[in-house]
Amino acid sequence: MVSSEFDLIERFFRRPLRQPGVVCGIGDDAAVLRPPPDRDLVVTVDTLIEGVHFPPATRAFDIGHKALAVNLSDLAAMGAAPAWATLALTLPRADEGWLEGFREGFFTLAQRYGIDLVGGDTTRGGLSITVQAMGMTPTSAALTRAGARVGDRIYVTGTLGDAALALRALAGEVARPAAGLERCLGRLNRPDPRIEAGLALQGLASAAIDVSDGVLADLRHLLTASGVGGVLELERLPLSAPVRRVLATGDAGWSLPLSGGDDYELLFTVAAQHEPRLRERVKGLDCPVSRIGIVQPELGLRAVLDGVTQVLPGHGGYDHFGG
Ligand code: ADP
Ligand code: MG
Repeated sequence: MVSSEFDLIERFFRRPLRQPGVVCGIGDDAAVLRPPPDRDLVVTVDTLIEGVHFPPATRAFDIGHKALAVNLSDLAAMGAAPAWATLALTLPRADEGWLEGFREGFFTLAQRYGIDLVGGDTTRGGLSITVQAMGMTPTSAALTRAGARVGDRIYVTGTLGDAALALRALAGEVARPAAGLERCLGRLNRPDPRIEAGLALQGLASAAIDVSDGVLADLRHLLTASGVGGVLELERLPLSAPVRRVLATGDAGWSLPLSGGDDYELLFTVAAQHEPRLRERVKGLDCPVSRIGIVQPELGLRAVLDGVTQVLPGHGGYDHFGG
């Protein structure tokens, strides 16, 4: 039995601290953190709401993993090394089984990157999880969306559309793939943040963003922030076998890989002459990197398929307040 809010925090969320810069962690009114003098602090926060960001049937372990993973993906896109996190948890009830699963998912991923949970808030209400992740880069080394230059190559890690395929297969909107559904479900429920790739891009990528709303929407964000345009070569998009099969049926067009969302891959630009350095740096990472386009002076995003210009939907990606 969870006897109180304090009992819940003590039993499920207070953990030995590993990061050197935690002056004061869980248990006081606020955490006190001390980044080294040669580091910039990189801070991000994301909320996951049941029914909006994950289906109600999602396992507690996966929710714990994903709540942290989506934040680490943002740190990865900045080229930051993760260090600390805070957790604001709103729960309909103090279900111990659920809390154990959630805690396991959260801390398994946190431990992989040596992240300390240093504070949070616990309240009762509809299931909602907010995680704030904090990381560091060497001073002035953070990657931003704004540095892409004309002629830079556009790259993406991993594959696109797998999570969207899993979600739409669960909803019965596309046929369940005969093979590979498990892998796609894994991509939806337990995305792997591309931390190592983000670190490898420090001092090399001219701009970077993580693909959370689909490559179309997120590439548009990057190009707009950089004041440039670009072309996406659709035949170069890295696609898994199940996504290729859906594409071949024509059921979902290109929507899965272009605007499906939940990919949590890194999308970034590198100057053409640095391609060999990029290949060298990502060689040992177990993270495929595909060249998918090029930055151009004409504003806006164009797409070509085998040399033929394609019509793109005006807005890709999920917008909570969009019509
Ligand atoms: P306050 O009322 O001062 O905000 P709380 O009772 O909310 O204090 O929290 C007590 C301590 O427990 C604080 O250090 C807070 O950061 C921490 N805390 C609360 N909820 C969580 C949680 N879900 N995960 C981690 N730390 C938490
Ligand atoms: Mg509080």
